Amino acid sequence: MGYAEVCVNSPVAQRQTFSYAIPPGLNINVGQAVWVPFGEKLLQGIVLELSDYPAVEETKEIAGIIEPHPVLSPAYVSLAYWISQHYLSPLFDAVALMLTPGFERKALTFISIPSIPDDFDLSSLTQEQRHALELVQRQGRVSLKQLERTLGKKKAQTIVSQLVRRGLAVRSYELEPIRVSPKEEPYLSLAIDAGEAQQEAARLQKKGANKQAALLNFLAQQSKPVPLAEARQKAKCDKATANALVQKSLATIQPVEVRRDPLSSQDITPSYPLTLTAAQESALRSISQSLKQKVNEHPNVFLLHGVTGSGKTEIYLQALAEAVRLGKRGIVLVPEIALTPQTIERFASRFPGKVAVLHSQLSLGEQFDEWQRIRNGEFDVVIGPRSATFAPQPDLGLIVIDEEHEWTYKQHDKSPRYHTRDVAIKLAELTGAVVVLGSATPDVATFYHAQRGDYHLLRLPERVTPRQSSPLPRVEVVDLREELKAGNRSLFSRSLSQAIARAVAGGEQVILFLNRRGAATFIQCRNCGLALRCRRCEVALTYHLAEDSLVCHQCNYRIPVPQLCPRCQSRRIKFLGVGTQKLEQEASHTFSQARLLRWDSDATRRKYSHQEILNKFRDHQADILIGTQMITKGLDLPQVTLVGVVSADTGLNLPDFRAGERTFQLLSQVAGRAGRGPSGGQAIFQTYSPEHYAIQAAAKHDYTLFYDKEIDYRRQLHNPPFSQLASLIYTHPNDALCQREAERMKHLIIEERDSKGIADISVIGPAPAFIHRLRGRFRWQLILRGSEPSAFLSPVPIPQGWTVDIDPVGL
Ligand code: ADP
Ligand code: ZN
Ligand code: ZN
Repeated sequence: MGYAEVCVNSPVAQRQTFSYAIPPGLNINVGQAVWVPFGEKLLQGIVLELSDYPAVEETKEIAGIIEPHPVLSPAYVSLAYWISQHYLSPLFDAVALMLTPGFERKALTFISIPSIPDDFDLSSLTQEQRHALELVQRQGRVSLKQLERTLGKKKAQTIVSQLVRRGLAVRSYELEPIRVSPKEEPYLSLAIDAGEAQQEAARLQKKGANKQAALLNFLAQQSKPVPLAEARQKAKCDKATANALVQKSLATIQPVEVRRDPLSSQDITPSYPLTLTAAQESALRSISQSLKQKVNEHPNVFLLHGVTGSGKTEIYLQALAEAVRLGKRGIVLVPEIALTPQTIERFASRFPGKVAVLHSQLSLGEQFDEWQRIRNGEFDVVIGPRSATFAPQPDLGLIVIDEEHEWTYKQHDKSPRYHTRDVAIKLAELTGAVVVLGSATPDVATFYHAQRGDYHLLRLPERVTPRQSSPLPRVEVVDLREELKAGNRSLFSRSLSQAIARAVAGGEQVILFLNRRGAATFIQCRNCGLALRCRRCEVALTYHLAEDSLVCHQCNYRIPVPQLCPRCQSRRIKFLGVGTQKLEQEASHTFSQARLLRWDSDATRRKYSHQEILNKFRDHQADILIGTQMITKGLDLPQVTLVGVVSADTGLNLPDFRAGERTFQLLSQVAGRAGRGPSGGQAIFQTYSPEHYAIQAAAKHDYTLFYDKEIDYRRQLHNPPFSQLASLIYTHPNDALCQREAERMKHLIIEERDSKGIADISVIGPAPAFIHRLRGRFRWQLILRGSEPSAFLSPVPIPQGWTVDIDPVGL
């Protein structure tokens, strides 16, 4: 075959491939990485198809091969096409997900001289040409850059072109090297000997410099330099203390190179499969049978539905072991936040030395190495966040997606805006692998598919606890309207206050949860609890400060802020939006005896401080942990007996049809944090809408109760899974222009729809996006709803400035 369809690494390429001729002598395969001329440049491309005929008349030739072996197998080529089509993303963006980290680099050009014929008349060359020829001959191969430095940029390029044309020199191309920046950490060591240090410490102590003295004593006991972070933690001092010692020439701080291998730092004791309970056994049997099938007609997808602690992870481990026995390998996907040492250790100890971890904290060089080792088949299991879906795991047999309902599985901030679950299921279909989705609170769409029989539903109805079975925590729902009637205006209901005081006095630990996502201000009547909603869309109205009005972010319906509650005529209309900092302040007043610790994104800007905060709390250096949704994820904190949800409503008032689902998931997870130890536990939800089905169902730990209500609403309002959504956002610094462009686009879409006679696409909006203004640019949104908006939009030209998101997770 003489031609290749190449997906080129250029923003111009979009969803297209380009035809290139294969020069004689070059062995080109599907999935291979090549250099291709593109306009004036030489760019990277991946061969996606081979053919006898080009798609266009005029073709250029492939310039060279980047790597001799294909970088993508045929299944991944198909997957890239699918991602590009389904999510309307540029093809190279889809392909890039699957390339070795750091693959996207520029070309370096090298010049070499094959043998020059004996009868060649060197005097026919100019002096400059001969000079260049000698330079190259002397070294065998020279980079164009080097020639440019010696001869001048323009001149070098001209001479090389001349020599190549006369057949005396050939060009070849290589990727520029990855710049691996080594990771360094400051280490602290003594500048004097240990004996002196102790005398010095005694002197410092006399002067009242206790912290410096303690640090010096600590250093005197160390045989080698210690990481500064460790010294600070162990000697309970801060950076200033260390600096003071350095200034007095008693200690030095020096950077030491560290390798961030999440597994090397831990001593991993091997673990062995547990004897399964009957429910686990039956679930594992179904998965194993599916793994043994030679050909899969349908994607084999399992939904493993069971509360936290019901033994899902043990099933993943044993299913992976089964896959390995069958000569296959697995990928385990976890939400980024769950990629904790605890999680990693569980997998690493079951498959010692056979687990690769793809961590976003690895440097590019480390990711590169890990990726190569995976491709070589060195690991049974690859574990990582959503990007690990694309790890080149050979003989892929099993893909596990833990906490499959988590929103971090959707890449929403850059192209391609894919959902891990859908991509994994597609990949399984292409490779014959089996997918296991696990969750205590499955995504409504996932559960719907399981109910319909598209996926196999496996249930683990109970917790398996090693000690006496500790039941799910009791949940009390507190009606905040009643609190106000009783004159309690604080953030803590009487019930929650008493429970906190009791727990702290008894030496137990408390978690207070406040959903950060509620930071957007909304308006609520404090008398009857009414949160103002859009009449057309049933979503909460958002307060816009600039216009002093309430706006529906779905359809742009606007009203002035009412003086009286439309339902009960009360004047007590409040703007709500308490943050964790305010909560911390109030808690420290109300519970002055308790030690507080706050965990939110403000508190964790620094790397690794998640772990530090967590360790501090686990060591019982604080009584109350105040946090946002970060604290809801899979943490095992046995001393926590009480979880208080300060406002269970904040999520409900988000302008999104998934508000109920989101609230149910969060509340279920938060409540699950209590009572993981032998002393059992309790959760308290404070709310203005105690009758809401999401809150009721979470309080009863009843997924079915929630699901049945929710799926009815979805059906009535024709929301997913009964339709698919596409969000189109236009951004521009000028608000009016932005709105006009959105209106124009809407007309265009409606025309297209009507001319094709497609009945089932509806267009909602335009309206200001949830975040109306971002970094100085305004954003207007259109929402398409229908059975296949992505297929409908595919032929529609989408101008610059628009972002299309298929199956958006937040509206
Ligand atoms: P999940 O993933 O659903 O949260 P895990 O697999 O982590 O549940 O199990 C919860 C706890 O119970 C873990 O400590 C685990 O080691 C233990 N466990 C799981 N299965 C069994 C079993 N069959 N026998 C004894 N202990 C088990
Ligand atoms: Zn009211
Ligand atoms: Zn509306």
